[in-house]
Amino acid sequence: MTIAPTSPTQLASQLPGSVQHGVSAADALHARYGVTVADARSLGKAELELLAEDAGVRLADARAIDILTWAALTFGHNLVVASSMSDGVVAHLASRAFPGVKVAFLDTGLHFAETLGTRDAIAATLDIELLNTTPALTVEQQAQKFGPNLWATDPDKCCEMRKVTPLQQVLAPFQAWVTGIRGDETAARVGTPVVLWDERRGMVKVNPIARWSHEEVEAYARRHGVLINPLQQLGFASIGCAPCTRPVRPGESIRAGRWAGADKSECGIHA
Ligand code: SF4
Repeated sequence: MTIAPTSPTQLASQLPGSVQHGVSAADALHARYGVTVADARSLGKAELELLAEDAGVRLADARAIDILTWAALTFGHNLVVASSMSDGVVAHLASRAFPGVKVAFLDTGLHFAETLGTRDAIAATLDIELLNTTPALTVEQQAQKFGPNLWATDPDKCCEMRKVTPLQQVLAPFQAWVTGIRGDETAARVGTPVVLWDERRGMVKVNPIARWSHEEVEAYARRHGVLINPLQQLGFASIGCAPCTRPVRPGESIRAGRWAGADKSECGIHA
């Protein structure tokens, strides 16, 4: 879906979440959290960094839909969601806050068929614009240049080429990106702020479900009929590329099935 450029003030009248009849979303957010909604389109990086720090504090305990409503009002079309297609929860939340929101998916060429099916079903059923992003090299070209199964011999290089660089490219035109990372996924993600300054990319990072548990994600999906990657039913608690993902065993952490047996726990996108 394509939507015409909309100012935050105009957008406020269209948004759900905290909006009460006759009260704009911006006013409702300010009244509830003390956060200021400013049109960020003319702001430079120093101002955006201050904006992110302030929102991270004020929205620390806010509802996910309110965090995304703030992001939609502040950044408008300069906002993009990154989704691994483990589920459609963040895309669903974002589409409620900003119908037609852009959702980027890193199509590495090595995903499970179930993940690609989830991507296609989410794109077909939610009010989003899918940005399917591919690496510069196909899997075959990568094998010719760097040898077969690079994910086994040099997973950092493989992730750099198939995930980190394509993400950098797809995020470049935007001022802010939304992720689905949660504090309960790994020790390194505990305490992840809901809004922060992404120094590496020079943009604002929004983590609306940072404080949610896996059970809360499932409950939201049930309540709103949101699609979940069917691999989750088979024990894949965190889903990445097929060669680097296995189901988790009872008692293991959520991301224990990612690069299992290797000295690696992050692809480099969030680290
Ligand atoms: S997750 Fe594995 S296959 Fe996917 S890009 Fe990283 S190393 Fe390569």
